[in-house]
Amino acid sequence: MITMKGAAVSAKLKEQVEKGLETLTWVPKLTIIRVGENPDDISYEKGATKKLTSFGLEVESKVFPGDISDEAFKREFAAINADASVDGILMLRPLPKQINEQDIEKMIDPAKDLDGISPVNIAKVFSGDRSGFAPCTAEAVVCMLKMNDIALSGKRVAVVGRSMVVGRPLSMLLLHENATVTICHSKTANLPEVCREADILTACVGKAAMIDHTYVKKDAVVIDVGINVDENGKLCGDVDFADLEGTASAATPVPGGVGGVTTAVLARHLVRAAWMKQEKNSNK
Ligand code: NAP
Repeated sequence: MITMKGAAVSAKLKEQVEKGLETLTWVPKLTIIRVGENPDDISYEKGATKKLTSFGLEVESKVFPGDISDEAFKREFAAINADASVDGILMLRPLPKQINEQDIEKMIDPAKDLDGISPVNIAKVFSGDRSGFAPCTAEAVVCMLKMNDIALSGKRVAVVGRSMVVGRPLSMLLLHENATVTICHSKTANLPEVCREADILTACVGKAAMIDHTYVKKDAVVIDVGINVDENGKLCGDVDFADLEGTASAATPVPGGVGGVTTAVLARHLVRAAWMKQEKNSNK
C-alpha cells in the first residue's frame, strides 16, 4: 500500500503560490479571526500561520474574548472585512453560541472568504462555478487525488460524511471532476457494503479509526479527512490505516496527510484573492 503523504502535494502547491506571488505587486495578507481560547483553534491557527509564512505570505491574528457580545463581534468583523489591507479572512469556527454565525457568513466579503463559508461561494461550489472559493479541506482532498495522478472521471467515489464544511462541498467538487459520487452519512444502511463499491473512499466522519478493511474494495484509494484524538490521547484519523495493508492500493496517513494540504490550499486561495483584487483595481 502506498502512503500518500501531504508534504509532496504541499510542495507542489507552494510552487504555484510562489509563481502567483511573482505576478503581484504586494505580499498578500491573511487575517485569522479567533474568538476564545479553544486549543483546537489555537493549534489550527499556529499551523496555518507557520505554513503561510513559510510560503512567503503575511498572516495576522485578531483574537477576541470568548464572551464577546454578538453586537461587538459584528462591529469588529465589519471593520476587518472592510479593511483594504486585508486580502483574505479565515474565521475559526464554530463561534461561541452568543454570536449568530449565519449572520457572519452573510457578512463576509465573498472576495476575501478564503474558506468558502459565504452563501455566494457555497452556491458557486454547488453550481460548478470555479470563480469562487471552495472550503479548503474539500479542495485539499481533490488536490491530493489529482496531484497523485489518481483519475476521477468515471470513478465511483464514496464520501462518508455530509457536513457543509467537508462532505457536501467535497461531493460537489468530485462530481465536477466527473466522478460518480455516493454521499454516505449516519443513516446510510449497510455502510461497509456501500463503501466497498467505491474505487475511492473518502472518510470525513470524525470517528477515530472507524473505517477498517471491511469498508474498502481491493486496490481502492482511501483518503482520510478525520482529525480525532484516540483513547491514548494521540492524533488519529477516521481510518484504521494499518488495517488497510493488503486491501487498499494507497491511503493518506493522519497526521501527515490531508491536514497540511488544507493550509497549503488556503495559501493558494490567498494569492488568488489578491490577484483578483489587483485585476479589479487595474480595471478601474
Ligand atoms: P461533522 O460536522 O460532525 O460531520 C460528520 C459527518 O459524519 C456527518 O454527516 C455524520 O452524519 C457523519 N457520520 C457520523 N457518524 C457516522 C457513522 N457512524 N456512519 C456514517 N456517517 C457518520 O464533522 P466535519 O466537520 O464534517 O468533520 C469531519 C472530520 O473531518 C472531523 O474529524 C474533523 O476534525 C475533520 N476535519 C478535518 C479537516 C482537515 O483539514 N483535515 C478540516 C475540517 C474537518 P449525519 O449527517 O447523519 O449526522
